[in-house]
Amino acid sequence: MNKINILSNELANMIAAGEVVERPSSVIKELVENSIDANAKTINVSIIEAGRKQIIVADDGEGMDRQNASIALKRYATSKIISSYDLNHIKTLGFRGEALPSIASVSRIKIDTSTGENVGTQIISNEQQLEISDGSLHKGTTITVEELFYNTPARLKFLKSDYIENANNIEMMTRLALSHPHISFSFTIDDKQQFKTTGRGKLLETILNVYGHHVASNMIKFNFKAVDYSISGYLGKPEIARSNRYYIQTFLNTRSVYMPKITNAIINAYEDFLPPTRFPFVIIDINVEPALVDVNVHPTKREVRFSKEEELKTSLVNVIVNALKKQNLAPKPQIVIEKPHDVIIKTNLFDYVNDDNDRQLILNEQDSSSLISDDSKTITKEKMLNMTVIGQAQLTFIIAEDFEGGLYLIDQHAAHERINYEKYKALAKEKVPVYEPLITPILNYKASDLMRLNEEKIMLLKDVGVIIEQFGKNEIKVRQLPIWAKDYGEKEYSEQLIEQILEDNDIDTVSVLDASIAMKSCRRSIKASDRLSLNEMQFLIDELKKCDNPYFCPHGRPTIIHFTAYQLDKMFKRTGF
Ligand code: ADP
Ligand code: MG
Repeated sequence: MNKINILSNELANMIAAGEVVERPSSVIKELVENSIDANAKTINVSIIEAGRKQIIVADDGEGMDRQNASIALKRYATSKIISSYDLNHIKTLGFRGEALPSIASVSRIKIDTSTGENVGTQIISNEQQLEISDGSLHKGTTITVEELFYNTPARLKFLKSDYIENANNIEMMTRLALSHPHISFSFTIDDKQQFKTTGRGKLLETILNVYGHHVASNMIKFNFKAVDYSISGYLGKPEIARSNRYYIQTFLNTRSVYMPKITNAIINAYEDFLPPTRFPFVIIDINVEPALVDVNVHPTKREVRFSKEEELKTSLVNVIVNALKKQNLAPKPQIVIEKPHDVIIKTNLFDYVNDDNDRQLILNEQDSSSLISDDSKTITKEKMLNMTVIGQAQLTFIIAEDFEGGLYLIDQHAAHERINYEKYKALAKEKVPVYEPLITPILNYKASDLMRLNEEKIMLLKDVGVIIEQFGKNEIKVRQLPIWAKDYGEKEYSEQLIEQILEDNDIDTVSVLDASIAMKSCRRSIKASDRLSLNEMQFLIDELKKCDNPYFCPHGRPTIIHFTAYQLDKMFKRTGF
C-alpha cells in the first residue's frame, strides 16, 4: 500500500505559511519588504480590522511585467537569487520566494502591478485559481490581501484582540520605517493615519515622524567604523528611558533583527546613566559585509548569525559610554558598600523571611558563621520599642541603641518611605482621594503604546484615581489624579504609572495602587543627606515602630540593620571574657 505521498502545492504552501505568516503583522512585513526590494520610494500601507479584513500595500517600485507577475505566486519563485553564491551575498530583504505563495494560500490576494512601460497586470488569486487581466499603467505594485486565515480557523483563533494585533502592526511598521529613512512610509489603520515619514534619508527626521518631538529632541547621534562593520544611530538621553527593553532597536544591514547579546550590551553600557528599572531608548544601525552574515537561519529572518558579534559588542559598549559621557549626563550616584578591614560585613549578611507582614530580619548564618555566632538573631518589634537615637551618620543613617547594648543603623529615607507608604495606603483603603489638575498634563506616546492602553487598562487607572483621555495622534490628557500626584510632579507621576501598567499585562488594581502609593511615599520622603535633629530622628523611628512591616521600604530594601551587643563584641574580638 502506498503510504507516502508528495504534498500538493497548495498543502506545501499552507505549511510554509505556518512559519512565515503568523499574524497580520507578518503579512505587512513580507509585502513591505518586497516593496523595499523593488526600490520603492513611497510605500503606503493601510489595514482594516487589524489586518484581518484587509491589508493593502501600495508602492511605486519597479513593478512586474505580466510574465513575472503570473509566476510570483508560485512557490520558490524569486527574482532575487539564482545561485548558492547569491545566498551568501544577500543584499535584498527577501530571497526565499515563499512569502507571496504562503500569503496566497491563507487569504484572498490581488496583485496590481506595472513596470510603467506597458499596460499593467491584475491578478486575483482565489482558492489557488489565478484570474489575470489588464491593470493600470501606473508604475508600481499594489497588493491587497483580504480575509486572512479564512481557511485556517486554528490560526484565525490564535490571533489576539485588535488592539494587540495593531500594537504588533505598528511595531512592525515602525521598524520598517526606522530602518529605511530613504523611503516615505505611511501607515493607516481603519482610515486613521498612524504616521507618515518624509523619506528624506535622515534617521532623526524619521524618528521625529514616528515617535514625535519629545523623543527626537532627546537623542544623541553616534557613529563608529571598524574594518568589517560600521555602527551608527541614536542614543536616547536618560529623560526618555523606558520601563522595558523594546525600545532598543537593532538593525543589521537595514533588517530589523533580534540580537539579544547586543541588546544586553547596550543595557550594560547605560548602567551608570540609568536606574536599574529603566531601559534606554536606542536605535542602532549596523552595517556589515553581507558575506559575514547568515540571514538564512529562520524563515522570518528575525534572527541572524553574524561572525563578528563579540568584537562588535565590545566596540559598541565603548562607543556608547563615550558618547554618553561626552554629553555630561549626570551619572546616577554609585552606591558603594565598603568593607572595613578584617571585619567582613557583607551586604547579604541579612536575609529576610517572607511571612506576610511579619517579616523579620534574620542573620544569614551561612555568611556570618565565621564572624558571629549569636543566640538572638532577630529584630523583634519589642526590641525596636527600646530604640533611642544617638546620632546621624553621613546625613543618611540614623544611629540608635537599645537598653541591651544593641546598635541600629536606620536608613532615614527608606524608613520614611515605609511610614508614608503605610499612611497613604490606609487613606486609600476608604477611597482614593482625587483632584483635577489645574494645568492638564499632556503625555506623549507612540501609537503602539496607545493601542495597548485598552479599555481595561484605562479602567484600572480610573480605579486608582487617574482619568486619561486620548488627545491627538500621539498624546494623552490627564484629567484627574490622586492627591499624592501633586507634590510628586503630576506629569512624571502619570507617566510612570502608565508605563508600569503598559509593561505588566496581568497587573491588577491592588498592585497599581500599591505602586502608585510607593512612588508617592518615595518622593515625599526625607532624603538621604537631609540633616535631621535628634528629635526629628526619634520621631521618625517612633513612627517606624508603628508600621506593620517596619523592616523594609516599599521597594524591598532594608530600613534597619541591627547589631546585638554580642555581635559588636565579637566583631571587636572582645568576647571570651
Ligand atoms: P522573495 O521576496 O523571497 O523573492 P516573494 O514571494 O516575497 O519572494 O516574492 C516573489 C517575487 O515577486 C519577488 O522575487 C519579486 O520578483 C516579485 N515581487 C513581489 N512583490 C513585489 C513588488 N512589490 N514589486 C515588484 N516585484 C515584486
Ligand atoms: Mg519577499
